[in-house]
Parts: sequence; structure tokens; C-alpha cells
Amino acid sequence: MEINQKGVLLVVSGPSGCGKGTVLSHILEDKENYSLSVSFTTRDPRPGEIDGIHYGFVSKDEFLLQIADGNMLEYTEYCGNYYGTPQSTVNSLLEKGVNVVLEIETVGAMNVKNIRSDAVLVMILPPSYEVLENRLRSRGTNSEEDITKRLLRAKEELKALPEYHYCVINHEGRSHEAAEQIRRIVEAEKHKIERNNMILNHFYQ
Ligand code: 5GP
Repeated sequence: MEINQKGVLLVVSGPSGCGKGTVLSHILEDKENYSLSVSFTTRDPRPGEIDGIHYGFVSKDEFLLQIADGNMLEYTEYCGNYYGTPQSTVNSLLEKGVNVVLEIETVGAMNVKNIRSDAVLVMILPPSYEVLENRLRSRGTNSEEDITKRLLRAKEELKALPEYHYCVINHEGRSHEAAEQIRRIVEAEKHKIERNNMILNHFYQ
């Protein structure tokens, strides 16, 4: 008998600048087992971002239409723009045994936690608040106004930490280590008793 083959719905948050994109890129190299849910956003693409790969970049009207059509698993407004997770692909991937990663902020994560009790919530943290500020500045793609907004928002987001199931620190130059820790969390989750009813049924029938 096999341990649970359904995928894990992995919700990953972390204040802007904590390096979650890099950590997740390592995890997502394993295309057979992990897939990123591509969100919709109304913000402008940053240099190098590709429509349909990093986000579906849409207008506010298109975004509101998706909500009205019931196509969003969750959505939120963040620093003046809308962000949302499309329902469509998540369930079919989980059924196929693929772990689906939602890279979303804390309000969206709490919404997912409320509607999906099987979701596993991981917060990626910077080693300190000072490091976070330095990283945001050195990124060079955010305006001063945006940096200030994101730092304030980071403080707010960190208040949600007790609601998460796991936290992982992304130390400088050690993003592979953080990725490995998340892979292990997912592996352990798959072995949880409540995810393996088939085994329970087999031994207690
Ligand atoms: P950024 O503008 O830096 O790409 O993203 C800003 C924030 O929005 C990040 O914390 C990111 O995780 C979050 N985010 C991205 N997609 C979604 C989504 O579909 N839903 C929610 N709730 N947050 C999202």
C-alpha cells in the first residue's frame, strides 16, 4: 500500500523582499511533483516578468469579471493592486498527486485556510527586518513610495505568523537550504494519518 498520493496544497507567504521567489524557484525545478498556481494581478509587469508565467496580467475590469464569474479561489487587494488565485487548475493537479504552490500574501492565505482545511501554510522569513529592508532597496525595481508601503505591509504581515503551520528562515545565500526544508515539510505532511484514510480503513476494517 502507498502513502497518500494526493498532492499537498502548499500556501507560501513571506514579506515582500524575503526571497520567497528564489526559494520557490528551487522547489519548482521538480516539475513532476510541484506546480505553481499562476495568479492574476492588476499590477504592471516588472522587467523580465512574462504574462502567463509569472502572473496573468489583467485590467481591473477583467479581474472583477473573474470574481463575478466565481473563478477565484481567493483574492485580495495588496498595496493598491488586486491579486487572486484562479480555481481552475488547483484541484485537478492535486488529484493527480502534484503539490500545488500558492505564493500569496497573508490575507489570501487566511482565506484559503478557512475554506481548505487540508492546506499547509508556510511563512518564509528574512533573517531580520534590517535584511528585509536592504533586500527591497537593492532590488532596484521598486520606487521609494512602493518600498515604504511594502515595509509597512511586512510588519502587518508578520503579525499573521502564529496562524501559519510552519516557518522557514531564508538566510543570506542559503535559499537552497530553505527550499529543502519546505520539501521536507511537504513530505512529512503526506504521511499524516488524516491524509491516509485508505491505510486506516485497511487496518481497522
Ligand atoms: P508582488 O507584487 O511582489 O509580485 O506580490 C505582492 C504580494 O502579493 C506578494 O506577497 C505575493 O505573494 C502576493 N500574491 C501574489 N499572488 C497572489 C494571489 O493570487 N493572491 C493573494 N492573496 N496574494 C498574492
